[in-house]
Amino acid sequence: MPSSYNLFLVAVSLAMAMFASYVSFDMARRVRTSQRDIGLAWWAAGSLVMGTGIWSMHFLGMQALELPIPIGYSQGLTFASWLAAMAASGIALELASRKRLDNLRILLGAMAMGGGITAMHYLGMAAMRMSPGVTWDMPLVALSVLVSFLASTLALLIFKLLRRVERPRRMGYQLAAAFVFAMAICGTHYLGMAAASFAAGSVCLTAGELGGPGLQTAVAMIAGALLVVTLLTSILDSRLQRAARGASHSMHESNARLQAANEELQQRAFADPLTGLPNRLLFEDRLAQATRRLERSNHDGVVERMAVLFVDLDGFKPINDSFGHAVGDVVIRKAASRLRDEARDCDTVARVGGDEFLILLNDVADEQACISVAQRVLASLSQPFEASGRRIEISCSIGIVVHPGHSESNKIVANADAAMYAAKRAGGSCYALFEPHMVSDVSEQLALQSDLRHALERGQLSLHYQPKIDGRRGQISGVEALLRWNHPLHGMVSPLVFIPLAERIGLIGRLGHWVIDEACRQTAEWGHDGLRMRVAVNLSVHQLRDKGLVDRIGQTLKDHGLDASQLLCEITETVAMEDIKAVQHTFEGLGDIGVYLSIDDFGTGYSSLRYLSQLPARQLKIDRSFVGDLEHSTNARAVVAAVVGLAHALGLRVVAEGVETERQRDILLAMDCDELQGFLFARPMPPAALLAWARGAKPEGGADFTPSLVGALAPL
Ligand code: C2E
Ligand code: MG
Ligand code: MG
Repeated sequence: MPSSYNLFLVAVSLAMAMFASYVSFDMARRVRTSQRDIGLAWWAAGSLVMGTGIWSMHFLGMQALELPIPIGYSQGLTFASWLAAMAASGIALELASRKRLDNLRILLGAMAMGGGITAMHYLGMAAMRMSPGVTWDMPLVALSVLVSFLASTLALLIFKLLRRVERPRRMGYQLAAAFVFAMAICGTHYLGMAAASFAAGSVCLTAGELGGPGLQTAVAMIAGALLVVTLLTSILDSRLQRAARGASHSMHESNARLQAANEELQQRAFADPLTGLPNRLLFEDRLAQATRRLERSNHDGVVERMAVLFVDLDGFKPINDSFGHAVGDVVIRKAASRLRDEARDCDTVARVGGDEFLILLNDVADEQACISVAQRVLASLSQPFEASGRRIEISCSIGIVVHPGHSESNKIVANADAAMYAAKRAGGSCYALFEPHMVSDVSEQLALQSDLRHALERGQLSLHYQPKIDGRRGQISGVEALLRWNHPLHGMVSPLVFIPLAERIGLIGRLGHWVIDEACRQTAEWGHDGLRMRVAVNLSVHQLRDKGLVDRIGQTLKDHGLDASQLLCEITETVAMEDIKAVQHTFEGLGDIGVYLSIDDFGTGYSSLRYLSQLPARQLKIDRSFVGDLEHSTNARAVVAAVVGLAHALGLRVVAEGVETERQRDILLAMDCDELQGFLFARPMPPAALLAWARGAKPEGGADFTPSLVGALAPL
């Protein structure tokens, strides 16, 4: 019987095969990547869709066969062929969901799939019951079975390959794979069809059953719709999964970031950002651990010790103030690393304040061991520092507490602090072992600090004046204003005590302004009383760094109607040396407005005269320590004589401070010293006393000295 093919249906069946293959590959991926229960759902739905897709291809392919007799298909066998397609798909998808797809699995899978496809096809053919029966070309049948097996092998291999291809290249690969697979399925089908021949005059016994163009369209549409819906669902699912993966990825990322931030925060919470050393918090934690450990172990009769060293840099603040914070930071960092070098690994070195460090020494043998560490630290920190091309020298003060022994465990740091203050008070650059009285010293200091803050408004401050005597003419050449604090409890407190305190608590600016104003006011008042004098005030380095100082002094002079040359500013040599730039700037400004300048306490700072001659000073005051030695030390005499000579060579007038004896006076006068100041002539005294003294009253405690030319303004 002649048979032909409806080419349109052949094309539709081919398209259906491709579409079904493409969707099947998608399914296979879904089954593999989804969670277990979701994967199972995809497997069931996938088997249905994939089976229906393949089956519809086959069914349409069958319909494409045109015979000159009416054709129909048995419902039962058609249904069985559909089930076969579903089973093959189910096996294929199950295999696809396996993690490992080795050759054996591929072989078994291909056999199952090939068997399923073959079963589908030949069951489908059997659904068309012919009389007489179909004659089969067996080699072609065998070929179709082989092709279905090979097609399945190929499909599984392609799928294995596809698993390794990432988006966006995957779509192209999947299309190509679908094409190959579709061609293979169609090959099986059309080969199987070609293997069948129908005898002339055959009739189809199932002609009344399934068949006809309506059914073809319905199958094509239903299968097509099923595939479309599935594909869309698959795409949607893949997007959702990607979004979820993205979300979990970004959650991972933000988790990691959170963790890093946490670590950073922890680091910050426990480390000093400038030096990287532990901060106070971490130090206290380690100290608490160490004390607990000691308490435990010392119970058993063994005495283990630890120690805390409180290290405070001396003279660090001026470095920060004058060279800037960047230089200060370098010094701190270098000091920190030197401290670290002096400590052992089991010790803790922490930075607990601007220039304050704490060292926790674990397992120390005795006090002597701590003293050795302190001495090493002192030696190490007194080595010059290099910062921004500058050579900076500092020292430090160290307070030591050994525990157990020196202090209760909750007061170790406070006591080390008190000991450090004691070392500072002793002049710095040394260590002090804690002693109980130091605590009261500290609380006294604190009380003094708060009292000092109110001293000015409570009227406890005043100026005393000490005359300077012109050596040659024996007359008063001026007075030095010296600040006094009359404390309600302690009485007169020495400026040597409260000036450094005022500097430390940032009060010196206010006090300094008051001194200048009061000295000028007093000088103007004396002027009205007919005592025209030059008044000297002492300036602290903090005042010199104040950019507004020159203007303020100019204004104060104007306010009191004083000539600028009536004011003389004294600045100690060490201060001048510490910050020559700031000093020079202010000195020049003061010189420009006509104020006189003096270098105080000369000889204590080891500075060269040549260096100091860069400053527009007019006067040099030799420190009283030299003057005190004059009578007994030839060395002191040689130094003073040399200083006087050099100062004169540089055009500076020389003042000797602390002249207490006539012998000293005579030596100094013989050396051609220009002015003398000291208890020999007069002690510092209140303004009224000074006026009386200047007018010829016998000075209290001073020598019998009467100024010969009261009121004259001797040239400096
Ligand atoms: P200074 O400027 O060198 O002042 C001289 C110090 O020597 C004064 O001490 C004075 O009383 C003392 N003195 C004077 N003649 C003799 C003597 O013959 N023998 C002895 N042993 N001492 C003598 P004072 O008043 O205690 O002042 C100490 C330092 O305090 C001053 O040294 C000065 O550096 C500082 N000072 C005082 N008043 C002020 C102030 O208003 N501002 C600033 N920044 N510092 C001040
Ligand atoms: Mg002075
Ligand atoms: Mg002095």
